[in-house]
Amino acid sequence: MAVTNPHLPTATILGYPRIGRRRELKRAVEAFWAGRTTADELEATARDLRLATARRLVDLGLEAGTAAVPGSFSYYDQVLDAVALLGAVPERFAGLTTDEGSLPLAAYFTVARGEGDRAPLEMTKWFDTNYHYLVPEIGPDTPIGFVDDRAVREFTELAHPADGGQAVVTRPVLVGPVTFLLLSKAADDAPEGFRPLDRLDDVVTAYAELLRTLAAAGAPWVQLDEPALVTDLLDVPFDEVADAVRRAYARLATDLSPAGTGPDDAAERPAILVTAPYGDLRSDAGDGLALLAGTDVEAIAIDVVRGAVPAGPVPGLENKTVVAGVIDGHNIWRADLDARLTVLEGLAASGTGLGAGTVAVGTSTSLLHVPHDVADEPRLEQGLKSWLAFADQKVAEVATLATGLSQGRAAVADRLAESTAAVRSRAEAPGVVVPRVRERTAALTAADTRRAPYAERAAAQQARLNLPALPTTTIGSFPQTSEIRSTRAAWVRGELSDADYTAAMRAEIASTVALQEELGLDVLVHGEPERNDMVQYFAEQLDGFATTVNGWVQSYGSRCVRPPILWGDVSRPAPLTVEWTAYAASLTSRPVKGMLTGPVTILAWSFVRDDLPLGDTADQVALALRDEVTDLEAAGIGVVQVDEPALRELLPLRTAAHPGYLEWSVRSFRLSTAGADTATQVHTHLCYSEFGQVIGAIDGLDADVTSVEAARSRMEIVPELADAGYGRGIGPGVYDIHSPRVPSVEEVTDLVELAAKSIDPRLVWVNPDCGLKTRAYAETKESLANLVAAAKAVRATL
Ligand code: GLN
Ligand code: ZN
Repeated sequence: MAVTNPHLPTATILGYPRIGRRRELKRAVEAFWAGRTTADELEATARDLRLATARRLVDLGLEAGTAAVPGSFSYYDQVLDAVALLGAVPERFAGLTTDEGSLPLAAYFTVARGEGDRAPLEMTKWFDTNYHYLVPEIGPDTPIGFVDDRAVREFTELAHPADGGQAVVTRPVLVGPVTFLLLSKAADDAPEGFRPLDRLDDVVTAYAELLRTLAAAGAPWVQLDEPALVTDLLDVPFDEVADAVRRAYARLATDLSPAGTGPDDAAERPAILVTAPYGDLRSDAGDGLALLAGTDVEAIAIDVVRGAVPAGPVPGLENKTVVAGVIDGHNIWRADLDARLTVLEGLAASGTGLGAGTVAVGTSTSLLHVPHDVADEPRLEQGLKSWLAFADQKVAEVATLATGLSQGRAAVADRLAESTAAVRSRAEAPGVVVPRVRERTAALTAADTRRAPYAERAAAQQARLNLPALPTTTIGSFPQTSEIRSTRAAWVRGELSDADYTAAMRAEIASTVALQEELGLDVLVHGEPERNDMVQYFAEQLDGFATTVNGWVQSYGSRCVRPPILWGDVSRPAPLTVEWTAYAASLTSRPVKGMLTGPVTILAWSFVRDDLPLGDTADQVALALRDEVTDLEAAGIGVVQVDEPALRELLPLRTAAHPGYLEWSVRSFRLSTAGADTATQVHTHLCYSEFGQVIGAIDGLDADVTSVEAARSRMEIVPELADAGYGRGIGPGVYDIHSPRVPSVEEVTDLVELAAKSIDPRLVWVNPDCGLKTRAYAETKESLANLVAAAKAVRATL
């Protein structure tokens, strides 16, 4: 019997921001956490938000009746939602679930945020984005079933709205079963050799149950996200991933009958769209596209922004829909619609194309990673605005392309022309290409990334700084008190004059310097009170960047960030940090460390341009920082730290791309620091990561001193660095700044001794894991006092 697909939307998006245009969800969730509202009130706000969002998407051009609108809402995180769906909570939360094993809303948040002895699930980066998901903990005995029908309720509520208004048939979006398990970690008490993927059958059984329930509720489509298929960094070989995909989708797609095929025509499941965002399904490791094409799912979404455009037919796609992700869900540039339409036409062409049954138009990823609406940016310059597409503009782009593909170019001629004009105006606009900047990067040579040999530097620096063994320092920021924040807010609102603001920040710096002298730290910092954020602070001052007012993007849970927009060639119109640092240095005879954010981190936490290779942009940022280092030196500063916490983060999802990335990232860091005098001590700082894959790169940075997060892993990285031949200063963090807990002198002493055992003790520095901006003063003072005491104690034994 011929399989007839249900009516397919010609235009769709893989997901939409859920935090709300004015961060309504953030406010509602935080009010609930603070006990100001009830769970019912929170649910009502969320329901209104979902309804408004679905109707807005219809207004923007998605069909209301064909499951074109994704049901991609989450109260906190989509991976946590899958945990909740399955009731797959670790033992320590068992007391919080209902008899059926589901999580009431308050308990759902407890799993995310912890409470008392119940540590939250760990948080980590979602593929190569700035979104963080919660890591499920799965063991042989973790409960797994279909215990939570929230996805079904949310579908029904929009398909049959209580207010009698416009109904919207949505497509529930869930993390796919294979990706869910590949992103999970083995529970602490799981036996040696157990892997979460061992529980695939249980997870698939639960998903099958969910699909049956969705079909019964009338859902024509469901979306299962399987981005794990575009990376080979998950430590599971392709063959095993492929086997898991075949097994999972045989049971979900083949064993359950879709609409129109069952004996009495009753669908056992909705049609299935599997998505593979964030990259290419095909790599040296294996062919994920052929793999998915071989299953019985009805549709596959491929990312043709990050991934290559497949050339030639793929067997198995004949009766499937391919949702071609031609609109970038991960960046904010307006698309060149003419060029995108050409790609779509190529994919849809018979003979040369994919050989797909149908080609539909989509975004490359969920729009979760971009802000809501360019029209909401009153302060952006008009020209720049016309080059941008946030989530709402991207929906309209998708709709336009779908019309162009199905009805021909003439049907959208005006919009293609507008897009072409915008692309051209961007290319020609002043500031996008600045010859002076281009000439400078073009003239760079390898010599610009090299300093004198380390031995020579170390001797010159010691002669200048005269530091004791095991020198003590901090990572840069001191507590950002609510006073500091409200002072800055008043200044931004214009209620405080520049002079008053400067005086307030100077007073803060003076007290931070005095505190560090009192504590007996060896290398001081100014404390960064003037910085709203370690990237935005620089972006606001550099040419080539713009910042937004409402451009919020979810980072994790209720936390949102406003990434700056890097739109043009980067240069430094004036010094960025010199005044504050020099002021701090004027207050003390001890060395003060200047503090800069490195080029890779500035790029990682901004929206970057798509018209210049990332490495070239990094060089431009690096040269601006290089000039800043020179100015700091001229102001008498002898120690400069260039932070690169995001070095690991931008690592490509495919190992084959690593060497290229590491080449430019390491080069740009070196470019930013290699202008420093031999006697200037260059520090760098790294955190937030497992460093395994970048150990060699850390050495390649050639910093005189590298501070790294290490307290929780008990100095693990020190022997790893030593084994890799690292032989310069190393400051493994001895104080975990993620918690208010004060480490004792003994604890810190232990860690310092541990570090000094695996590397030459003369190289060891003593410092916290990261900046102190999120800590309060009381615990900071005590902790730093213990840190200094421990350093002195170990020093005496050397
Ligand atoms: N210098 C920064 C600070 O101390 C570093 C922050 C970071 O590594 N994330 O806050
Ligand atoms: Zn850090």
